[in-house]
Amino acid sequence: MKIALIAHDKKKDEMIRFCAKHEDILRKHQLFATGTTGVKVMEATNLIIHCFRSGPLGGDQEIGARVANGDIDLILFFRDPLTAQPHEPDVSALFRLSDVYKIPLASNVNTAELFFQTLK
Ligand code: PGA
Repeated sequence: MKIALIAHDKKKDEMIRFCAKHEDILRKHQLFATGTTGVKVMEATNLIIHCFRSGPLGGDQEIGARVANGDIDLILFFRDPLTAQPHEPDVSALFRLSDVYKIPLASNVNTAELFFQTLK
């Protein structure tokens, strides 16, 4: 599967912990991420991730384009619901596209854990 990883700044530690915990599963898949999330996860694990631009600089939209092209199968987007994001329209657009194309999207770590029980 092609899996996209995105975490807002206050959720990046959660994403890193999640990816380290599930590294054995994740390494069997093709991984994509927004820039900062991808670099931080790669630094903390041995995973290889194709990194797009940082989210606020267009990375969410780059992943959205892949969703529209049928090139993403699962999105883990750990969203920070308590902090205003300058690129909120891009975030909403990606959530919308995930619904348009019925791509599973986990917006928090516990949803991601449920998804990964299925992947095991
Ligand atoms: P980042 O982008 O991984 O480059 O920080 C995530 C986001 O805020 O959308």
